[in-house]
Amino acid sequence: MASDHVDVLIVGAGLSGIGAAVHLRRNCPEKTYAVLEARGAIGGTWDLFRYPGIRSDSDMYTLGYSFKPWTNPKAIADGDSIRAYVRDTAREYGVEQHIRFHHQVVRAEWDSGQARWTVHARRDDTGEETVLTCAFLFTCSGYYRYDEGYTPEFPGVDRYAGQLVHPQHWPEDLDYTGKRVVVIGSGATAVTLVPAMAERAGHVTMLQRSPTYVISLPSRDVLADALRRWLPAKAAYPVVRWKNVLLGVANFQLSRRAPNVVKKLLRRAAKGRLPVGYDVDRHFSPRYNPWDQRLCVVPDGDLFHSVRAGRAAVVTDTIDTFTEQGIRLTSGEELPADVVVTATGLNLLAFGGMTLAVDGRELNLAETVAYKGMMLSGVPNFAMTIGYTNASWTLKADLVATYVCRLLRHLDATGQQIVTPVAPASDELEPIIDLKSGYVLRAVDQLPKQGATAPWRLHQNYPRDVLLMRHGRLTDEGVRFSRAGAPTDGSPAEPTVRGAGTPADTPVA
Ligand SMILES: Cc1cc2nc3c(=O)[nH]c(=O)nc-3n(C[C@H](O)[C@H](O)[C@H](O)COP(=O)(O)OP(=O)(O)OC[C@H]3O[C@@H](n4cnc5c(N)ncnc54)[C@H](O)[C@@H]3O)c2cc1C
Repeated sequence: MASDHVDVLIVGAGLSGIGAAVHLRRNCPEKTYAVLEARGAIGGTWDLFRYPGIRSDSDMYTLGYSFKPWTNPKAIADGDSIRAYVRDTAREYGVEQHIRFHHQVVRAEWDSGQARWTVHARRDDTGEETVLTCAFLFTCSGYYRYDEGYTPEFPGVDRYAGQLVHPQHWPEDLDYTGKRVVVIGSGATAVTLVPAMAERAGHVTMLQRSPTYVISLPSRDVLADALRRWLPAKAAYPVVRWKNVLLGVANFQLSRRAPNVVKKLLRRAAKGRLPVGYDVDRHFSPRYNPWDQRLCVVPDGDLFHSVRAGRAAVVTDTIDTFTEQGIRLTSGEELPADVVVTATGLNLLAFGGMTLAVDGRELNLAETVAYKGMMLSGVPNFAMTIGYTNASWTLKADLVATYVCRLLRHLDATGQQIVTPVAPASDELEPIIDLKSGYVLRAVDQLPKQGATAPWRLHQNYPRDVLLMRHGRLTDEGVRFSRAGAPTDGSPAEPTVRGAGTPADTPVA
């Protein structure tokens, strides 16, 4: 059993973990760190998912890192390009050699007496257990189970003679050329798969229980294309990034304040891309308001093109039963299928399933409150990366990493060792994720809560978070700073550091 110590231990080598390591290198170069990654590769989501057409559904000028311009002309990019971007970043910034692959973190125990975490990892290649200690634990472990996607129990599925596939485990050798395909689902994965598979399949049916808002966006960014001709990438990138951030915020705010207007606009846009007489209300007009669930983006209207061309169809109905040849619907209609793809979602899972204990007390995540959306009440020297629900994940991941670096520098500058968020006095608490999608509702009871006001409230607003996290105070009513040996139950054993900013209390990125 090997054991060693680092200042910061990052869990996960996906988009967030690699970004976190780069921020750390640039802003706290004296800190030692390691990245523990359960899998054998960099990239997380963008390495795991290999289904046809896999791509981002947000633009890469905001899904890319603040410190590394996205230079590929595709604003909505394919999975391979995103994976390459994350890997290139790890190589370019010297992070690669700090990653320990095949290390699944299963448990972390905090000891206030020593101001350190003891972290247990299981190696899936050797079966060995590794123990590391660290002063600060930074989880960048995504939000869902890697080993298993979500599949509801479908009646009769055992007798289905065709091939049943979940997009999270795409068989490399699956040949669907000329075949009849049914994709069950209406989310981002389904709307990506349908046009991509329709290029080769005999016919593709998207079978949805209820519709989702689908919006067509250009796969290339006109402003980025224009600026690229005149400006170096480093100068053009922030301009396009901020343009897209502000458009996103405006779109979200309009959806919240005037949902009926946005509903009408989305319906009109969909109708204009569908064949004349198409039942747009049945298939593309959800009952919920825009942004109660994420909008589904289709680049250059590819889904609508497939429907128009007759290569794909949308069916809105429920499954009565699978049959030997396909699916029988509640309406009595039969959908014959050689291949059925269950694009039915993910299983949410915090920290890849690792358990946490603080001074011998097991942590129940559901009893914690998130502080600034990135730390947990009662959990010292711990940060987590959870991206926005209404904007690109990396916008928040960059801010969280920046904030962690500020905190580490603040601790050093003030001679403190421990930072512990405290829960708000008010018991007005809400779920941490405000979406009403099935995958969120299935798990939200097991996740941390958010409070009603700052610093416990998630505003899902990047410009506001820039002020809060890049430029805002590190000391407030929601957090206590202390030295080793102090209790972590929120009682003020050591004076809370308050007052004017310290040298470290300055933006670092
Ligand atoms: C198909 C799909 C498309 C998406 N498209 C977009 C999009 O267009 N825009 C957007 O903003 N978001 C999108 N998302 C959300 C997406 O997950 C984020 O954009 C981003 O990739 C998350 O990066 P991450 O590094 O935080 O998490 P992940 O990509 O999930 O990576 C987490 C890493 O941590 C490792 N890990 C987890 N637990 C442990 C553990 N206990 N021990 C060791 N290692 C561990 C995993 O193996 C993995 O490598 C998409 C998600 C999916 C599933």
